[in-house]
Amino acid sequence: MSWHQATIKEALQAFETTVQGLSATVAAERRSRYGPNALQEKKMKPAWLIFLSQFKDLMILILLIAAVISGLLGDLTDTIIIVVIVVLNALIGFIQEYRAEKAMEALKRMSVVQASVKRDGRTSLIPSTELVPGDIVSIEAGNSVPADLRLLEAHQLQVNESALTGESLPVMKVTSPLHVADIPLGDRLNMAYKGTAVVNGRGKGLVVSTGMETEIGHIARMLQEDEMDTPLKKRMSAFGRILSYVILGICVLLFIVGVLRGEEPMRMLMISISLAVAAIPEALPALITIALSMGAKRLMQKKALIRKLPAVETLGSISFICSDKTGTLTINRMTVAEHADLTDGSLGKVNPFLAGMALNHDVKGEPSGWIGDPTEIALIKRVTALEGDNIGNWRTGFPRIAELPFDSDRKCMTTVHQFGDRYLVLSKGAVESISERLSLPSEPLVDLATEWSSRGMRVIAFAYRVLDALPESIGHDTLERELLPAGLAGMIDPPREEVKAAIRDCRAAGIKPVMITGDHPATARAIARQIGMMDEGDLLLTGAELAALSEEDFMEKVDHVAVYARVSPEQKLRIVRGLQSHGHFLAMTGDGVNDAPSLKAADIGVAMGINGTDVSKESADMILLDDNFATIVNAVREGRRIYDNIRKFVKYIMTCNSAEIWTIFLAPLLGLPMPLLPIHILWINLVTDGLPGLALAGEKEEKDIMKRPPRPSGESLFSQGIGFHIIWVGLLMTALTLGTQAWAIRVGDAHWQTMVFCVLSFAQLGHVLAIRSDRSYLFSQGIFTNLPLLGAVVLTFLLQLLVIYLPAANKIFRTSPLTLNELLICIGVAAILFHAVELEKFISKRRTRS
Ligand code: ADP
Ligand code: MG
Repeated sequence: MSWHQATIKEALQAFETTVQGLSATVAAERRSRYGPNALQEKKMKPAWLIFLSQFKDLMILILLIAAVISGLLGDLTDTIIIVVIVVLNALIGFIQEYRAEKAMEALKRMSVVQASVKRDGRTSLIPSTELVPGDIVSIEAGNSVPADLRLLEAHQLQVNESALTGESLPVMKVTSPLHVADIPLGDRLNMAYKGTAVVNGRGKGLVVSTGMETEIGHIARMLQEDEMDTPLKKRMSAFGRILSYVILGICVLLFIVGVLRGEEPMRMLMISISLAVAAIPEALPALITIALSMGAKRLMQKKALIRKLPAVETLGSISFICSDKTGTLTINRMTVAEHADLTDGSLGKVNPFLAGMALNHDVKGEPSGWIGDPTEIALIKRVTALEGDNIGNWRTGFPRIAELPFDSDRKCMTTVHQFGDRYLVLSKGAVESISERLSLPSEPLVDLATEWSSRGMRVIAFAYRVLDALPESIGHDTLERELLPAGLAGMIDPPREEVKAAIRDCRAAGIKPVMITGDHPATARAIARQIGMMDEGDLLLTGAELAALSEEDFMEKVDHVAVYARVSPEQKLRIVRGLQSHGHFLAMTGDGVNDAPSLKAADIGVAMGINGTDVSKESADMILLDDNFATIVNAVREGRRIYDNIRKFVKYIMTCNSAEIWTIFLAPLLGLPMPLLPIHILWINLVTDGLPGLALAGEKEEKDIMKRPPRPSGESLFSQGIGFHIIWVGLLMTALTLGTQAWAIRVGDAHWQTMVFCVLSFAQLGHVLAIRSDRSYLFSQGIFTNLPLLGAVVLTFLLQLLVIYLPAANKIFRTSPLTLNELLICIGVAAILFHAVELEKFISKRRTRS
């Protein structure tokens, strides 16, 4: 028998549980028996496999083989040191990749949702991964169903099961057993399935299966989450492949030319291969992932939880931020500032206005600490202040027998209460929603509401009716009609303090902030003015106006709209599409279930950590842990910084590589002997390039980071003169290196090769210091503002000295101790490079100014 056929009693018995829930001990025992309630993700690669895959690289294999052959032919020290360096290289690659994978795993773990479970008779929130068969869980609108459930209670419970059945309309759920054995999932109305979305009402269910045993678990393999590869990483890998071929071509050429010139073939082979290993930037994609996940970690400290890694990168291109008003731009702490009682005393002692405030809400808890919608809490506080009354008395006097919960499309909410032997229907909602449901138009209601709205207040209208009998079906059309006006409440919700400055930052950064709200246009406009969101020429559009606009007319306006008022969640999708079709990159916030489509469609969907629903969180790329607009702007700033830094280390590593290639390639053409040995090349690649390069990712933000326009999406990493920089600085480095070599050989300096080795190494350190900022000079920016980088530079410098002055190292690296003069010459030559790059900034500044 399937669970949908069982009665509730049978189902509970089958799982040896009751409506009081399992005991903690049984739950723990089942947890170890059934495992976590999670879909199996692709397993993380085991560490040893990641390590081995570092050697998968064809060039590294060839290098190792060549080293072994050359060792057999004669020099064993060379072989050993090459093997050691290659293994070290692999180790670093391994650590980087392992860290990247770990970081991604942590990201996933952090976004686990909570489930409300009853155990030992007490309700508590636990991570949904901890659920076991037999648990009793509560679900409500906004939740995603945490496991497969046989429903025990369903109040207006509607679930969208499109994730499972493809059916996009929500299904109304029931609790009674069904008597057909083989019916499709979509028709099992007394079941709720893991991963589907509760869009309305609330309910309770018995967990019948968890994890991979759930229906969605059965198809999970088909649903494998898309790879978290970022566009940048993909582009980089593709570019890396092309580059590898080019470099390989150069190395082959180098080998042929060398052999033709009479170099010893084996030595030439080793040099060519070492160069290929050094110059092919195989680590770049992993470095990008690390930089992005380090960024995600920092964003977390700034209260932005990244759910999808590519978001870190996309943040830097954002040109529009579309934000909810309530709670995101405002603090969501409502206080009723004005109220107006419009009742006429026709119900005797019972005042339906006060009744509406006291009864029409879903607030839980007690006067000491109400829990629920701030709007409703504000109303309750007002009615208690007015009457000194106890909400409990209202509740016992007028028990609730039905409800139509608030939704942001209808913008109203209705409850039905026992009223002697009659029924009291209480509605509250937006003025337009209420007034169109009144039996007679009410001028005072509309007029007052308009006035309060224009003062920035959020206005809630109240209405009521008394029924002798309940209608046959309880729904919007039967209850929410022929209402009588009861009153109005106007509340203030002050803007968040940080928001003004954040909006100023947006403007300076070429980002347009847009408000999207369900509130009255007058309220929206007043708040927008207060926080500086509406400028000359900015438009306000209401949902009704938007609906009436043709696509063409909307496209003409969409760039200039600063405020959308009284919009429904469906219209948000139209706004996203409109902006995107103009080539804008936008972040869009949302908290409700019906915001999910627009969150998915936006370039960065932003959900609310505190007031957001599970469903919105699961559709988002980023979650604001403090629900604060300013956090989005901070995240953009951080995203720009991270992207800048990725560009910087690409710039650094590619310039180094280009210098190495030019040096080795041009030397023979200029009639110079081979400037470097394979070991030197590998050393520079491992130490000089590796250490400081990574530290660039920690570079602080540029001073003008929020004063320049957003980066065009899809912009090449090599734009903005970076491609040019890589070539000219590479050539300059080469000229300095080969110049030193030629000069030293001319004056008969026996240490010329060690000098070449040092000049190249030091020049790269000079380079990394100079490119820390694209615009500020090192000395004005401060040498100590990136300590890890300074540390890496000093360490690399000391290691280089070790390689020159340690007798043992002299043997291995074939270096010789330089005299102080020689050393100073090397440092001096490297300093030339440093100043040349600083000069580049000076020139580019002059050029942008004129
Ligand atoms: P937003 O979140 O953008 O401020 P909402 O969709 O929450 O907008 O609210 C839209 C309108 O619906 C409000 O202006 C108010 O009049 C009404 N409203 C909001 N919350 C409730 C509620 N709990 N019950 C009834 N009406 C509400
Ligand atoms: Mg709201």
